[in-house]
Amino acid sequence: MNNFIFVETKPNNMTHTEIPFREINLESVRSKNYDANLERLGEHSNTCFICGKRTASDAYVHYTTDGNLTNNPEHADSQGLYSVGSECLKKLPTDFIYF
Ligand SMILES: [Zn+2]
Repeated sequence: MNNFIFVETKPNNMTHTEIPFREINLESVRSKNYDANLERLGEHSNTCFICGKRTASDAYVHYTTDGNLTNNPEHADSQGLYSVGSECLKKLPTDFIYF
């Protein structure tokens, strides 16, 4: 379940604290029930980006135009932040969660 596919990021993607930014391919963590849940429950502002269920969580992931999740809050190719439910948070490294 936790076999993340980390995507190579550009070498200049370093913070001032020298923590390398990383990306995880969304499809590698997205629930196989995502599409079915979206179909059944509809798409809402609080729909979990990982499993497609509605969530009361105030946590988010940062999604890029490359189809990846990133731990870089200032990623140049951002599609914005998307809600993630409390169960799905457990699938992700903590530095990929935004509150
Ligand atoms: Zn979820």
